[in-house]
Amino acid sequence: MYNCGPTVYWRMQLGNIRAYANWDILHRTLLYLGYDVDRVVNFTDVGHMTEDEDFGDDKIENTARSEGKTPQEISDHFINTVTQDFYSMNYLQPDGSQTRLDMTPDETKDHGWARATLHIEDMIAHNKMIEVNGFTYETEQALYFDVTKLPDYTKLSRQVLSDKLVGVRDEVIVDPNKKNPADFVLWMKRTGKYAKHLQHWESPWGDGFPGWHIECSAMGCKYLGEYIDIHTGGVDHISVHHTNERAQNIGAYGHEVVRFWLHNEFLTNKEGDKFSKSKGNAFTLVELREKGYDPLDLRYYFMSIHYRQPIRFSEDGLESAKNARKSLIDKILSLVRGSESLDEGDILKAYDERFRESLMDDLNVSSALAVISELLGSESKDSDKVRTILEFDRVLGLRLRESIEKALEKDLPSEVQDLVDQRAKARAEKDYQRSDDLRDRLKEMGYEVLDGVNGQDVRKIVL
Ligand code: AMP
Ligand code: ZN
Repeated sequence: MYNCGPTVYWRMQLGNIRAYANWDILHRTLLYLGYDVDRVVNFTDVGHMTEDEDFGDDKIENTARSEGKTPQEISDHFINTVTQDFYSMNYLQPDGSQTRLDMTPDETKDHGWARATLHIEDMIAHNKMIEVNGFTYETEQALYFDVTKLPDYTKLSRQVLSDKLVGVRDEVIVDPNKKNPADFVLWMKRTGKYAKHLQHWESPWGDGFPGWHIECSAMGCKYLGEYIDIHTGGVDHISVHHTNERAQNIGAYGHEVVRFWLHNEFLTNKEGDKFSKSKGNAFTLVELREKGYDPLDLRYYFMSIHYRQPIRFSEDGLESAKNARKSLIDKILSLVRGSESLDEGDILKAYDERFRESLMDDLNVSSALAVISELLGSESKDSDKVRTILEFDRVLGLRLRESIEKALEKDLPSEVQDLVDQRAKARAEKDYQRSDDLRDRLKEMGYEVLDGVNGQDVRKIVL
């Protein structure tokens, strides 16, 4: 599986984060179903232009210039923020391992991440194959893919090429020798507008830098071969980026490389506009945290809505996801109380079967969550329920075991224990006012007290 990765010129906004929530669920689902998953996610650190145009401004270089830094400093920094956000959202790394907070950009390549600027030779080699097969032409400005050479060029978008050409014609045509407006750049020469481009390499077409699309074809085929089962991206990629990737694949190998293209719908604002960094209407996980949400609340929110369904972001929606996650943790806690370990029970096969079926139905996570509700309301043994739900969490990725264990921590800090003891005394003396005050103080310290038949039950608030 190849997932088109982030352009590392800014911290991912929640729309990007939504995209990877779906592919994380897909990755985890495949593992759960017993597949071996070879997966690559790229970091785009060169050639992605503003407005996704061929002749826009390079996003990385824009940030580098405005911050007075080198392109590599910019991409290093934002690769770090990607892995941090993957950690917070509990997304697996492409190689299936847990993301670590302290990873360096350099280490990412050992975990299935592929950084564009480390693969320039592969892109040149891929372009050469396309050239040898007769799909290209060269001008003083660039090496182009000639889209008229591929009769079903618009197959993915189902657009009619002549319609597409009309749309593209409105763009400023920078290169008068470009044959068809829809032809796209495979290699951009360091000349004209790009004479001062900071990142550049030697190539058979002169000094320059790769077009945006070639990195995904080249790195995908390098690591996953000339047949790739699944390739993903947002719906914005259908008509340009993936259409061009597909053309490059066929141009090089003479056959379709990707079997299934999966596209996630957008996260939009209340007005229905796509969340987007460049439009300035999006925000990041850091800002979400400042509003008091845990990234796992966002995970729950995103995963409960099908990936092909647009999401209009709302705090109400996020708030209900937060409550749903808390209530799930509370229900499990009420089942484990008194048991020796979380793994005493058995996995309930009938529920597991239905959980798998939901996921196999084009990742129907909301139906998988409904299986959990049914299981919780069933007559099954408590320990079996707990064991089964924790097993499901291999896919849901809600860190349930961690939350439960944290809540069950037996040894209370001494100052907390002291207040608990004082409260027991107050209750024995029927001083309910004092008992309530102490409960409030404990709550402020992050502990919840429930009065049961066996006295006080104290647990850490985990959210
Ligand atoms: P980019 O960093 O722009 O290359 O985007 C990284 C991924 O996030 C791509 O697969 C995009 O299609 C996806 N994406 C960008 N904005 C949104 C959005 N608002 N909603 C969902 N996916 C998005
Ligand atoms: Zn891509």
